[in-house]
Amino acid sequence: MKKSIILFIFVLVCSLLFHHCSGKEEGQDQQKGVMTMEEPVIVKTISTLVKKSGEEKRARIEKSVRQVAALWQASDGSNSEFETFCTRSFIETEDERHLGFEKLSGYFEILNGNFNKISVDLQRTLHLDIGVIHPVDQLFGSYNPGAHLDDDLFRNKIAFITALNFPFYSLQEKMKSAAQWSGKEWAYARMGDIFLSRIPAERQQKFTEVNTGADIYISEYNIFMGHVLNGKNEKLFPENMKLLVHWNLRDELKSNYGTEKGPEKQRIIAKVMERVISQEIPQIVINNDKVEWNPFQNKVYKEGKEIEFHPEPDTRYAHLLKNFKALKDIDSYCPAGMDTYIKRKFDGEMEISQPEVEELFTRFLSSPYIKKVAGLIKKRVNRDLEPFDIWYDGFKARSGIPEEKLNKITRQKYPTAAAMEKDLPVILMKLGFSKEKAAFITSRVAVEPARGSGHAWGAEMRAGKAYLRTRVPADGMNYKGYNIAIHEFGHNVEQTITLHDVDYYMMRGVPNTAFTEALAYIFQDRDLELLGLQESSLGKEYLDTLDTFWSAYEGMGVSLLDMQVWKWLYANPEADTHQLKEAVIALAKETWNKYYADIFDVRDQTLLAIYSHMISYPLYLSAYSYGDLIKFQIKQYVRGKDLAAEIERMFSQGRLIPQLWMKNAVGIEISTEPLFQATEEALNHFK
Ligand SMILES: [Zn+2]
Repeated sequence: MKKSIILFIFVLVCSLLFHHCSGKEEGQDQQKGVMTMEEPVIVKTISTLVKKSGEEKRARIEKSVRQVAALWQASDGSNSEFETFCTRSFIETEDERHLGFEKLSGYFEILNGNFNKISVDLQRTLHLDIGVIHPVDQLFGSYNPGAHLDDDLFRNKIAFITALNFPFYSLQEKMKSAAQWSGKEWAYARMGDIFLSRIPAERQQKFTEVNTGADIYISEYNIFMGHVLNGKNEKLFPENMKLLVHWNLRDELKSNYGTEKGPEKQRIIAKVMERVISQEIPQIVINNDKVEWNPFQNKVYKEGKEIEFHPEPDTRYAHLLKNFKALKDIDSYCPAGMDTYIKRKFDGEMEISQPEVEELFTRFLSSPYIKKVAGLIKKRVNRDLEPFDIWYDGFKARSGIPEEKLNKITRQKYPTAAAMEKDLPVILMKLGFSKEKAAFITSRVAVEPARGSGHAWGAEMRAGKAYLRTRVPADGMNYKGYNIAIHEFGHNVEQTITLHDVDYYMMRGVPNTAFTEALAYIFQDRDLELLGLQESSLGKEYLDTLDTFWSAYEGMGVSLLDMQVWKWLYANPEADTHQLKEAVIALAKETWNKYYADIFDVRDQTLLAIYSHMISYPLYLSAYSYGDLIKFQIKQYVRGKDLAAEIERMFSQGRLIPQLWMKNAVGIEISTEPLFQATEEALNHFK
């Protein structure tokens, strides 16, 4: 997970995606009596400017003036003030325009960078394992200091000057110009993405508030596994094992492949997940080690005696619904092409349309290779597959090493967050980075103990730092925590390279979150190697392929469900929490029955709905599956090449559109084909 997504959502809310159409007839602004610029005024302004600046600039003038007109409100000035503003503020010569670009860039870096830093600092107590959360911490943690920035920048005309001189290009236009644009033209286009709409500050603030609420709910949702019983009321897990739903539960499930009583423990975990999804989970067992719980019979015991309980009152779905409502409240400020969160998330943020994503996932989920890989898994586990085997982990080299052995190593190596921070340069050098580069990157990364499972939060100014937050219990970092920390460190490296090594600040970042996930996975895959535990590499390449294939199979189903849930929400905007719960369960079963039931020979399973991201990071999940594909293509490409040099080359491209970035990086666009081909080879190898 990448924490800057919160900021990313904010940045998008306040800028990228909420362009006001001049042709919009109805909407909040009309209701509030805000003027929409009239066509004759726009036409007159354009012709005045063309006369002044020359016919050859007509296209740019036309585009810019129309965009400014769409953003202009009565409070910004009269018709003639609009015309005067445009004619005076339009920069004619390319040299001066570039100077303006550099000035604006510099100031945006100051604003973004420092507002980001304020958010990092205000949320420290919420995110770090540094004591009890006080109500005041929650107030400050959910306060968005930048909520009014956008309003201010419109009021002082900075937004208009930017939009007038650096117009916005739609995804289609960007795709069309992709190959021809120079680095500078791309940077100008990215500046054109900044001011597209005017969302009232209170609506931005509302989303930040409800999303923070969902985040806290998720990060404090632990199950004490030492107090969870099997069907015969026996305890199978260590007494003090505390697992966060769902990440730790899933990872514990994965780590039990090939262990004694593995399947029995896995069945318990899957049952716990089902009770969370159905919200039949007793409220009293959440975050509580004072009772025993048998999730199969759903009975709770205290000091050996069965006690009455209340199930969790659909809180999980209440958070999802609140996120939906807050995001939907922004819709009416958006143009036709961006007027749902689904469109903003995919066309806008991911820069790949939702139907395109769904088509790719559906094609993958219908692939004949799934049955073949499932057959191989069945052989390897030596039993019929069960639904929790969507998380089959046996294609990983590490599954052969006992977890306790790994825990011992990581606890000793990383007793504190500071110990990990100190080791970061060594980690990078092991991956092939030069001493200087490793020193530079790690001088920009701070490691801190996380309250939740961990995250990476990047800087937004070159003077800032990226944060690696990871869970470090009192007895040191366990293997699971270490594994996640290496993943997060991959994000930090991306965050640092794409901020410092791009040609223009406006190009900072990656095309979308899938690209940062790809690098995080590439790091995470090498976690054992970094501990000096590289196992025999015989067949490892094939195992990696099958691991990615199975992970994509699981992830794409989960993501498909996420998308179906959001489509359902938009079709049923008045639904209450209970109806939403029922819908999620029904859609989970439907997705299961379509793409998993035949493979696992069991119908109506709900497990796909356990992901926490569905609750606290709306529609984020597809980034993981794209990450799987992108990771795979990059990994194939860098095989035998210098990994560090390739990472620097690829990621210093900055935020191009996804398919162009990928083509430059590995020679072809994002596709399932390379993975299918490699899966066929791997299956032949294991025949
Ligand atoms: Zn991640």
